[in-house]
Amino acid sequence: MKSYKSMSKEELETLKSELEKEYNDFKAQGLKLDMSRGKPSEEQLDLSMEMMDILSSHDDLRCSTGVDCRNYGVLDGIPEAKELLGAMCEVDADKIIIYGNSSLNVMYDTVARAMTHGVLGSTPWGKLDKVKFLCPVPGYDRHFAITEFFGIEMINIPMTMEGPDMDLVEKYVSEDPAVKGIWCVPKYSNPQGISYSDETVRRFARLKPAAKDFRLFWDNAYSVHHLYDDDQDVVLEILEECEKAGNPDMVYKFTSTSKISFPGSGIAAIATSKNNLEEIKKQLFIQTIGHDKLNQLRHVRFFKDIDGIHAHMRKHAAILRPKFEAVIDILEAELGGLEIGSWIKPKGGYFISFDSMDGCAKAIVAKAKEAGVVMTGAGATYPYGKDPHDSNIRIAPSFPTLDELKLAAKLFTVCVKLVSVEKLLE
Ligand code: PLP
Repeated sequence: MKSYKSMSKEELETLKSELEKEYNDFKAQGLKLDMSRGKPSEEQLDLSMEMMDILSSHDDLRCSTGVDCRNYGVLDGIPEAKELLGAMCEVDADKIIIYGNSSLNVMYDTVARAMTHGVLGSTPWGKLDKVKFLCPVPGYDRHFAITEFFGIEMINIPMTMEGPDMDLVEKYVSEDPAVKGIWCVPKYSNPQGISYSDETVRRFARLKPAAKDFRLFWDNAYSVHHLYDDDQDVVLEILEECEKAGNPDMVYKFTSTSKISFPGSGIAAIATSKNNLEEIKKQLFIQTIGHDKLNQLRHVRFFKDIDGIHAHMRKHAAILRPKFEAVIDILEAELGGLEIGSWIKPKGGYFISFDSMDGCAKAIVAKAKEAGVVMTGAGATYPYGKDPHDSNIRIAPSFPTLDELKLAAKLFTVCVKLVSVEKLLE
């Protein structure tokens, strides 16, 4: 296919009227499709329905230490749930605290605690004139929303195919004591599906922060969310690397079963060093008498062990893979060689990241919306909602049916073409 950039004005004008016709035909169909929601489809949720029947009134509802899970108690999670989530995030069970259903909630709490009480005896961040976080971009809007909410200044760090630009990370972290944290999604990142290389993880572990209360916010949201059995990313375990590098307290690792069982009713956890765990538990003791242990028990009895989780994730992959591949195939067929956009084919996670020509993303999303296809707002993948290039668009293939998705992806490509032609004609 001929690159749009090499076309003459006349060629572009002709193309524009053809594309306008194609776009209007789509519009006339009165579509109502949604490619914005990074959540499992109903079919995926159905995979875990047996969990609803796994505890009955006739069952023994005590955990392995004999505690009655119906009652108060067990602040940091029942032992078998710690084993299960420990295996999922590759740390020993004694390095884990099990929370409620949402890891985002744990991340919020972790930032909030640092704001009010500091980190291992440091000045509370809220009492400092300036607190900064590094934000690999494009990234997860809800991470950025937390730091924005607390008035923390966010600094963009460009992503590479190996993870965040580590030269920049090292510079900021080692030179500026106001830099207190970084948001990381190390495996199948949101939205690009990039996994950090061994070198990137080791450079993270070896950081020499100017602030002793600097922390890696290591969000392991997609640790077991592979699309392929025979081609999976493996990321070095960060707690172990930090220990080896003499920075044992530098990382908080977060995980949850949100996109494994039920996003609304899963279990979440934090894994971190003994010192950090002790500090967290002091606060947790004030915050709650214990999280939902019946739900922890339900998860353990349903999955049994890490092999059970992997087997379950293969069922998710069987549903998700055709959807991801359909979108990628349509992008390649419709936009390949046109030089008006680029994308990454992910091996796991929940998203496909698309980059348009500079200055086109907002217009593409608006055009898609006008024709009945909702996409994640352009800019959402950047702190403060500001994409400096106005080029990144997050595509979420999981929720629509395959047929809906194909239609939505096709319309999306028409919008990309039309907006790009308009841009080139400016
Ligand atoms: N972290 C990342 C990177 C995500 O993409 C998501 C959901 O999309 C979450 C966390 C939310 O996790 P939870 O449901 O455990 O709060």
